Amino acid sequence: MASSDPIVIIGAGMAGLTAAWYLKKNGRNVRILEAKKHIGGRVHTEFKNGFTLDRGFQVLLTAYPEAQRVLDYEALKLNTFEPGAVIFGDKGRTFLGDPIRYPKGAIQSAFSWAASLKDKLLVRRLTNDVKAMDIDEIFALKTQITTIKYLVEYGFSDKIITHFFRPFFGGIFLERSLDTLHPMFLFVMKMFAEGDAVIPEGGMTEIPKQIASVLPKEDILLNTKVVHYNDKYVEDDNNNKYNFSHLIIATPALLENGKPEYQKTTQLYFSSKLKPYNRNAIGLNGMPNNAFNNLAVMTNLHSGFAPEGQELISVSVPGKISFGGLKIKDQVIQEALAYCRNTHDWTLIDKYTIKEALPKLDRLRNTLDPDDFTIGKNTYRCGDYLLNGSLNAAMKTGRLVAEEIIRKG
Ligand SMILES: Cc1cc2nc3c(=O)[nH]c(=O)nc-3n(C[C@H](O)[C@H](O)[C@H](O)COP(=O)(O)OP(=O)(O)OC[C@H]3O[C@@H](n4cnc5c(N)ncnc54)[C@H](O)[C@@H]3O)c2cc1C
Repeated sequence: MASSDPIVIIGAGMAGLTAAWYLKKNGRNVRILEAKKHIGGRVHTEFKNGFTLDRGFQVLLTAYPEAQRVLDYEALKLNTFEPGAVIFGDKGRTFLGDPIRYPKGAIQSAFSWAASLKDKLLVRRLTNDVKAMDIDEIFALKTQITTIKYLVEYGFSDKIITHFFRPFFGGIFLERSLDTLHPMFLFVMKMFAEGDAVIPEGGMTEIPKQIASVLPKEDILLNTKVVHYNDKYVEDDNNNKYNFSHLIIATPALLENGKPEYQKTTQLYFSSKLKPYNRNAIGLNGMPNNAFNNLAVMTNLHSGFAPEGQELISVSVPGKISFGGLKIKDQVIQEALAYCRNTHDWTLIDKYTIKEALPKLDRLRNTLDPDDFTIGKNTYRCGDYLLNGSLNAAMKTGRLVAEEIIRKG
């Protein structure tokens, strides 16, 4: 180990790339080793026959403080979802607008059957509550209860929980029981209240690409799976050795007992000649026993996500899939038929099952002490699993580790 050796980062996900971004801005020499053939880790986009397919439905919340520090939003050419949601339920389809950020939608939503007047007033109160708290305060709450318990205790009715909270936050937490601890719910509510949900014109992959653009291409070694490390060097599966001055392990995969359990999800992409509905808002499945949880007409957000004359529909099925013999594709089409125009025309473009989507965590946090991420002499770890499952958390852990290395000189 010599001080002239680079800082080696294992993993080019959002955490590893963000660490590299801060180190590079500080004039440090960095080398990233990434097992896959692409950067971005869980943030990845595939391009197929003119369609832009994110690997799992994922949005950037522009209010994320860590994203604001690093990303150039204008250069990302962001497309913004309309606040509120199209709800599918036993009474058909309705729109539930955001009463604070979208007054026009609120008038329409005043007649929505998906929530009572009391619920709408409570949403307004809750939004004001979360806006008044800072993020550290939210995650420092001593008692962390499940989101579902919190919603019931806050006074929300079954009606809005079933039609809105379960599918909306089920789509974000990738579990519909809403067992995720309530600071995550409050944090996400705050982020929605203070910013927009967006996707770059080129797909989510543009986010890691933009961060990585500060590094020369040769500093990121793709298809390089690390199999061993010690306090002097790292070794890949081709027996290449890399000396380092500092080592950042930006994946839990290599750490003994470090790997959490994960929420799983399946993503289906369909093409269609017709728009299932016209609104640029996420569609929520308020029928508790249905397979799919949420869908989005991606071409309502940005027409360039599909070839001309075609629509792109993204459908999320979180959790384990099991539907009495029906193929998941047919099940989704059958369920959507009740709410969307002409699902007979839907053609499956691709399906992704993501086994390790979001970490299941017993305690959520928003910050770390150096002791939490220093795991050996000049060896550190980072990744969303240390705080909470979000882009913001992954980026924050990368920043904290980089700042510690910079501080040490
Ligand atoms: C379907 C889905 C939807 C999501 N939705 C949202 C959302 O809407 N908003 C939001 O904020 N967050 C969302 N997230 C979460 C967000 O994507 C993650 O929190 C974040 O990307 C995690 O980044 P990371 O760097 O910690 O981990 P990862 O992205 O997992 O990065 C780890 C990297 O390490 C590499 N690696 C592993 N082992 C090795 C090895 N041995 N050698 C070399 N490299 C290795 C991996 O290939 C990977 O590139 C979603 C995630 C998924 C999957």
